[in-house]
Amino acid sequence: MPFFENRLLFLGTGTSTGVPVLGCNCRVCRSEDPHDKRSRVSVLLKTRCLPDPAEKNASPTNWNYVLIDTSIDLRAQFFRAGTPLVNQVVYTHAHVDHFFGLDELRVIQYYLQGPIHIYCSEEVHHRLEVVYAHIFDPYVQKGGGILSVEVHPAEGRFRAGAMELLTLPVFHGGQPVQGYRWGGLAYITDCSHIPDSTLELLEGVEVLVLDALRHKSHETHFNLDQALAVVECLKPRQTWFIHMTHDLQHAETNAGLPEGVELSYDGLEIELSSFDPSKWVL
Ligand SMILES: [Zn+2]
Ligand SMILES: [Zn+2]
Ligand SMILES: [Zn+2]
Repeated sequence: MPFFENRLLFLGTGTSTGVPVLGCNCRVCRSEDPHDKRSRVSVLLKTRCLPDPAEKNASPTNWNYVLIDTSIDLRAQFFRAGTPLVNQVVYTHAHVDHFFGLDELRVIQYYLQGPIHIYCSEEVHHRLEVVYAHIFDPYVQKGGGILSVEVHPAEGRFRAGAMELLTLPVFHGGQPVQGYRWGGLAYITDCSHIPDSTLELLEGVEVLVLDALRHKSHETHFNLDQALAVVECLKPRQTWFIHMTHDLQHAETNAGLPEGVELSYDGLEIELSSFDPSKWVL
């Protein structure tokens, strides 16, 4: 029986400005705790197959990756993560903080010698063609330095490389955006409302990653209390909050959170339960 090692790496956990905020002199922006340094939100899903211990001389497979969002800080995040060779990208939505790092994958494409596969909603596909016009423009010379992509729909359950993901439709203010479920994990960033039909898709979630912007309420994001109300309703084993502003000092905020709920931080890597990455059931 193969054992799947499934992991989640938090590449970035900060709001759209990042923390520290340029020009801000508040105590969180001045904090020397590395947990208070937050680059723009993105995570890397990782999976590999470990052989049956009974099989002698067998070794694990290479890591397979899916990147959720291409943060504007992608280059620095990939240095820190040891340059993962990622060619599968899934988008939640097309806001600048989550979207403007795509071109940095040109170098990865050079190593892998193939296109970057992108999975997204129709709206994000449209934004890709607008923002990255040079990639789609037939008059721009191909090859050389131009990123090559293949865009696929991210609807319902879909396959991205070695992983099967389930789309979680949620709202970011009035805008529909997408979270994703992978086995026992649910990842929901930039969210201020989860419809009932999506709450049903979240049943049995073990590890929840959720937007929790700050203490004060906000039009398009859950604040800390609203995010805690979602946790109370879903009761996951562990919750990691993301997309925090400089309102939330890491250690101080964590000290006030219930058991099993913590602020995440850049560089944190967690192990998920062992499920088949491409054939998991709810
Ligand atoms: Zn955002
Ligand atoms: Zn500040
Ligand atoms: Zn957003």
